Amino acid sequence: MAWDFSTEPEFQAKLDWVDEFVASEVEPLDLAFANVSPFNKSHPVQEAIIRPLQDEVKKQKLWACHMGPEIGGAGYGQVKLGLLNEILGRSSWAPSVFGCQAPDSGNAEVLAHFGTDEQKKKYLEPLLDGRISSTYSMTEPQAGADPAQFTCAAVKDGDEWVINGEKWFASNFPHAEFLIVMIITNPDVAIYAGSSMFLIPKETEGLELVRNVATGTGPIGRAGGHAYLRFNDARVPAENLLGEEGAGFKIAQTRLGGGRVHHAMRSVGVVKKAFDMMCERALSRETKGSLLAEKQAVEHMVAECWIQILQFRLQVLHTAWVIDNSDYSAARTHIAGVKVATPKVLTDVIYKAMHLHGSLGVSNELPLTRMWEMAPTMGIADGPTEVHKTTIARNILKDYRPAPGLFPTEHLPPKIEEAKKKFADFLEGELEHEIGNG
Ligand SMILES: Cc1cc2nc3c(=O)[nH]c(=O)nc-3n(C[C@H](O)[C@H](O)[C@H](O)COP(=O)(O)OP(=O)(O)OC[C@H]3O[C@@H](n4cnc5c(N)ncnc54)[C@H](O)[C@@H]3O)c2cc1C
Repeated sequence: MAWDFSTEPEFQAKLDWVDEFVASEVEPLDLAFANVSPFNKSHPVQEAIIRPLQDEVKKQKLWACHMGPEIGGAGYGQVKLGLLNEILGRSSWAPSVFGCQAPDSGNAEVLAHFGTDEQKKKYLEPLLDGRISSTYSMTEPQAGADPAQFTCAAVKDGDEWVINGEKWFASNFPHAEFLIVMIITNPDVAIYAGSSMFLIPKETEGLELVRNVATGTGPIGRAGGHAYLRFNDARVPAENLLGEEGAGFKIAQTRLGGGRVHHAMRSVGVVKKAFDMMCERALSRETKGSLLAEKQAVEHMVAECWIQILQFRLQVLHTAWVIDNSDYSAARTHIAGVKVATPKVLTDVIYKAMHLHGSLGVSNELPLTRMWEMAPTMGIADGPTEVHKTTIARNILKDYRPAPGLFPTEHLPPKIEEAKKKFADFLEGELEHEIGNG
């Protein structure tokens, strides 16, 4: 049924279960294990606490829901995944508990499609089972948004590839067992045709960690989860080139497209949480003789946030629907649209929620400042906002043509002339009627 905004009862029952499970079992992990990375699979919390939770999720058939049915997933599709991810967005541990955390989700899809049987056994199976973590690496220190400036390259030597160059901001490298890396294999053609995707085991000789970079506030100089890497004559076997030689960007578009939408879906959950906090505060705090909720400025804030969140949520779910009904490449403009909208809604809503809580809002006694740190990163990770706006505009403008003459096609004088001609008989009759009456 077209234009139906309801959720089928069987799936709603699953969502209700997820809502309750995340609130009671998963969100507390963010508080008790705030300094443990969900990607650190060797931490004792994984076996003791996370594994039993993951087993619960598997029993509910909600594990790794991003995987398509053609590669062994449940096949819920993106719309249902969107509804699920909205709930998971409330907790940084939730995606790992449900087996759909980036970048492992996208890397698993690449391996499922292009890995050899041996690679699947060694990397895909434990990755899908949540026993190992992985990294996706494309950005270089001198270039992120403009891949034409990438230089990291691989040269074939017998049945091996020899890699030299640098990569930057490779997330989760400290906990990864392997990396999927975009590397130039033919420097004589445009980068979009001359790059390939490689599977690089972490222990590869010649792969050097320059340092792990951190984001956000915190002590200056502390190590974080985003690696600056250098390849010094690093060698991998020929079969570690995934897919066809030169198909790196095609593969990247598919995996990044999914990743961008999934981040947006989880961001719906983040802004809803900030909004709930804002509304509770408005009804709880009194100043100058009335509740905050009774001040017109606050009413406007609540109304504006509600409208913006609803618009964003519908945009995300519609994009999911477009993907379900076509594919990632057909949904490219829509995916770029949600990518642009995500940091904007995070910035607008979380700022207002913080603001309404006053000093408490900017303190470390509420989760709002941690949410707030997401806003600028969402505008950069997976490509900056400006680049996605350009993608949207170029795709949209393909369906338009320049005006045929000096004036725009909507120029009124010739259109009025034409309209008058169309109704000439009637208009002449009217005129005679008027003269007759006069
Ligand atoms: C939290 C986080 C995690 C990340 N994880 C990964 C990862 O796992 N793997 C990976 O490969 N990369 C990762 N990245 C890197 C990310 O993909 C790049 O930061 C991004 O592509 C932008 O590249 P850049 O940082 O070099 O910025 P630049 O390309 O230098 O862009 C900087 C700014 O310049 C402006 N700009 C750039 N291009 C244009 C344009 N065409 N028109 C107008 N203005 C423009 C924009 O304002 C942009 O924000 C991550 C980044 C972040 C923040």
